[in-house]
Amino acid sequence: PETTPAFDTTIHRRQTRPVPVGNVTIGGGHPVVVQSMINEDTLDVEGSVAGIRRLHEIGCEIVRVTVPSMAHGRALADIKARLQETYQPVPLVADVHHNGLKIALEVAKHVDKVRINPGLYVFEKPKPDRTEYTEAEFNEIGQKIRETLEPLVISLRDQGKAMRIGVNHGSLAERMLFTYGDTPEGMVESALEFIKICESLDYRNLIISLKASRVPVMLAAYRLMVKRMDDLGMDYPLHLGVTEAGDGEYGRIKSTAGIGTLLAEGIGDTIRVSLTEPPEKEIPVCYSILQSLGLRKTMVEYVACPSCGRTLFNLEEVLEKVRAATSHLTGLDIAVMGCIVNGPGEMADADYGYVGKQAGYIALYRGREEIKRVPEEKGVEELINLIKADGRWVDPE
Ligand code: SF4
Repeated sequence: PETTPAFDTTIHRRQTRPVPVGNVTIGGGHPVVVQSMINEDTLDVEGSVAGIRRLHEIGCEIVRVTVPSMAHGRALADIKARLQETYQPVPLVADVHHNGLKIALEVAKHVDKVRINPGLYVFEKPKPDRTEYTEAEFNEIGQKIRETLEPLVISLRDQGKAMRIGVNHGSLAERMLFTYGDTPEGMVESALEFIKICESLDYRNLIISLKASRVPVMLAAYRLMVKRMDDLGMDYPLHLGVTEAGDGEYGRIKSTAGIGTLLAEGIGDTIRVSLTEPPEKEIPVCYSILQSLGLRKTMVEYVACPSCGRTLFNLEEVLEKVRAATSHLTGLDIAVMGCIVNGPGEMADADYGYVGKQAGYIALYRGREEIKRVPEEKGVEELINLIKADGRWVDPE
């Protein structure tokens, strides 16, 4: 028989430098890291510790905390100590915003990574006449930024810690806005200006993000950033996200459209899904995006048909039962199909198949091979027996 040539279906990830953040590494071929942010007040030490634990326990690998004042910065020292006493070290990131140098220098002592927003880190007074910046004016402000950023860069460099240069479409610096407009180009130039200052101080533990709430803007910004970095020989890992994605189904779809598209192109080393919901809700979405692209496998992959007039049993009910019995078996692919009309190939080469065969009976498959037919009411039990017989079963915790 004719054979089709092998087609490469793997995603070839962009090669980036490894950047350590506590005991997790971003980039350098490491699995895409899942992160989120607590929404407790950082001054509430016990509440923040509980929020960080909650997130970490369900798979959030790096946790971000906001630091709007010096007092919040100092509270982070207590948060870190409490985590160490009562739980375990969790890689922490401090989010520093407006005129944040003093705060950033304080928190740099307590966290593994500091996130700064170039548009907010150094206050740029808008020009009163709103005219374009001359080159001299542009560079003068650039010099001021360099002087403001230097102490933080040196502190992080000397401590071996990381920095995220987190550009946001909605908060571009005045000067970038005037010169490049409200564009992906302005976002990229803003990031590059900060990167170059860091490089001039021999500091390269950098992670870059260019988030926007509109997916096409975010896509264009990350793609342009990759192109510019490639041209400049830079290999910094990228943190992906769609800001203000909202909530519910649309928030998840919008995040997936942005993050998933770039990941499929090999772009991205860490992700955050930003939902207007408790942060714990973001974590399963992150893992589902990564699993659906084959970038990480952290749960059972269920392949199921949508059901139709040919379906021989209640597919939704059976899928639910199969899921309840097997969802702890990380690493398996299990198919639940209403009938076999399109052949076992439809099961996308699942490890096991549960397939409607004739009224009242289902067939169990191992790969493409039918193993046995059993009455429908014994289907789930027999599926478990088959998995056990193959030595692939573990008891749920
Ligand atoms: Fe219908 Fe069978 Fe296709 Fe399921 S697998 S949608 S039951 S034809």
